[in-house]
Amino acid sequence: MESRPIEIKPLFHYWPNSTALTFSGWGCNFLCPWCQNYELSWARRPLYERRVNPQELVETAVRAGDEGVCASFNEPATLFDYLIDVGLEARRRGLYATLVTNGYFTLKAVEALVEAGYDGWAVDIKGCPQASKRHPRVLPGVDHRIVYRNARRILDLGGHVEMIYLVVTGYNEECADWIIEKHLDTLGEDVPLHVNRYYPANKWRQPPTRLGVLLGIAEKARRAGINYVYVGNVGDPGLEVTRCPRCGRVLVARRGYRVVYWNLDYSGGKYRCPHCGHPIPIRGRYVPGKNWLPPWRL
Ligand code: SF4
Repeated sequence: MESRPIEIKPLFHYWPNSTALTFSGWGCNFLCPWCQNYELSWARRPLYERRVNPQELVETAVRAGDEGVCASFNEPATLFDYLIDVGLEARRRGLYATLVTNGYFTLKAVEALVEAGYDGWAVDIKGCPQASKRHPRVLPGVDHRIVYRNARRILDLGGHVEMIYLVVTGYNEECADWIIEKHLDTLGEDVPLHVNRYYPANKWRQPPTRLGVLLGIAEKARRAGINYVYVGNVGDPGLEVTRCPRCGRVLVARRGYRVVYWNLDYSGGKYRCPHCGHPIPIRGRYVPGKNWLPPWRL
């Protein structure tokens, strides 16, 4: 486990510039052949014997000065009971709780997690019906509509959701139209969409996603009406700025997973564009002055 910026999840509209103590177990209910964390997610037994109880984990976050905790790296669904205990303990200590997940839960499980305090969800959408038909041996049996059903339920329960579409060369580029349509129909225009570059990993050896493909999908999503579209994993801060959907002004800029420009008004419990007053959906509060260096740079 380690403290990591919230922007790395990526969550851009949730406690901006905060850090979360990020933890994992092992295993996954999917086996994506391109998984960057396959050493953890494909493992059949723990790689490390270190066990940390929920109280100890949250205490570590408090001591590190983190604003929250985050289950990530492998699929958090595999840690379900532990997650519930961590969420409750985090709430008791005044921290937020988040998940980076493939979103493949039962509704009952989603409800229990939100109830336990998980109000920030970075949800991956892996594919679409066309990709499943064309590649039946990749994620066999997965019904991608369930991910949207669950994301909708999280929103209805008052949670915050950001969707991540990792555009995997040779697998799901053709899913863009379906994903944009489902996003707008199920979640609405104000839920952020991250269009992210894939890099070869594990068993998937196709080349990294071409920048032109990512930019084309992002443009299509914006034109269709999604208000907050970001292009990630390409190292271009210009593709990670938040603009006001009404007047187009830049409100937030990010670099290296940190907020480097923040220009929003806050009143009545809401963030607004200071130029035209349009409400900007942000969960939690901006945490100023919190720089972060990856552990290997310290
Ligand atoms: S769902 Fe996530 S953790 Fe699981 S195999 Fe796929 S990329 Fe890896």
